[in-house]
Amino acid sequence: MAKGREVFLAANPDWPWTCFFCGEEVWSREDLQVHHMDEIDFHNDIGNLFAVHPGCHKKWHAALKRIRLKAFRARAALELPETAL
Ligand SMILES: [Zn+2]
Ligand SMILES: [Zn+2]
Repeated sequence: MAKGREVFLAANPDWPWTCFFCGEEVWSREDLQVHHMDEIDFHNDIGNLFAVHPGCHKKWHAALKRIRLKAFRARAALELPETAL
C-alpha cells in the first residue's frame, strides 16, 4: 500500500494534487492517499495511481463494498430454488 504512495510521490512531488473523486485540491501529504484505479493494491504503475482525500477514498471503498454485497445477494437469491423464497 505504502509502495503506491511512494511511486505516486516520486512522479508527482509537488502539491497540491487533485483529488480524483471530488476534484478538489489535496493540500498536504497528511491528507494525501493514493487510490489504485483497478483496485489491485500491488499494481503500482503510475497510470494506475490517483491522488485522493482520505474521506473521499473511504467513501468510495465503502460504497463499492455495498455494491458488491448487493450483487452477491442478488445472485444468491437467483440461485435459490423457488420453494425457498
Ligand atoms: Zn476528495
Ligand atoms: Zn482505493
